[in-house]
Amino acid sequence: ITVDLERYRIRPGESVDLATRATDDTQGLSDSDEVDDQFDEHLDALDDLQERLYAQGSQSLLFVFQAMDAGGKDSSIRKVFGPLNPQGVRVWSFKVPSKKEAAHDYLWRIHRRAPGDGYIGVFNRSHYEAVLVEKVLDLAPADRVAKRYTQINDFERLLSDEGTTVVKVMLHISKAYQLERFKRRLRKPDKFWKFNPSDLDTRALWDDYMAAFEVALSRCSTVHAPWYVIPAENRWFRNLALAQLVRETLERMDPQFPPPDFDPAAYPPDSLV
Ligand code: ATP
Ligand code: MG
Repeated sequence: ITVDLERYRIRPGESVDLATRATDDTQGLSDSDEVDDQFDEHLDALDDLQERLYAQGSQSLLFVFQAMDAGGKDSSIRKVFGPLNPQGVRVWSFKVPSKKEAAHDYLWRIHRRAPGDGYIGVFNRSHYEAVLVEKVLDLAPADRVAKRYTQINDFERLLSDEGTTVVKVMLHISKAYQLERFKRRLRKPDKFWKFNPSDLDTRALWDDYMAAFEVALSRCSTVHAPWYVIPAENRWFRNLALAQLVRETLERMDPQFPPPDFDPAAYPPDSLV
């Protein structure tokens, strides 16, 4: 089972209309044992690829997640990256900047969390908040925000030139779906902690956020750091698409176990005491 991921990739400079992009697409697939098996097969492959990446220790992968509240960033990260060796994965969540973070440029707290050689870095929210929430809520002056798209492209180009493969995913849901998820959270006491009354303020600005996303997707999807808009309402499909995307990305990076820095012939295993 292969998901056509190209459908979800934003071409550099393409104008983006999120309203016309599917939030519940499954490419004709249905939730089935075959899909489960395919997902598990991706996870096995990822496990091997990650070990090679770590052993090779000369390149890294950065996976960026952005979404509206209830878009499924947390569960995507858990499902797709959770099964990997935790020693090789670093997950970072970017919340409202601390006083110290806010006193620096918006990339300051981001760059220091970029993955080092051999690691997979996962960003739950990212530098894109600087052109999303900061734009929508006027937290930064418009003339500063306007310059950030180019700065972000340059930053991601730097990472890429220096050995970090960058892939960005927007988990795409509809406003109606978000409402259902919020209601669900409020019906289940064990989900109360996931609900934040201020999420309703964000929801009220839905159209402004979509407009801000559209500009960011259009201006910052590049050959070296593409954006994908993944339909995220069917979670099994979202997981399948994400696992395939991570796998294909790592396969293209083609990490190899390094050659030994000793002569194996000099150490026949059976001669060890
Ligand atoms: P959940 O989906 O579980 O609610 P979350 O990612 O929304 O997770 P929160 O603890 O709700 O996590 O906090 C994230 C909040 O921080 C978001 O509202 C986000 O917009 C905000 N935030 C992140 N970066 C910035 C920034 N640069 N300026 C202002 N707000 C920011
Ligand atoms: Mg939140």
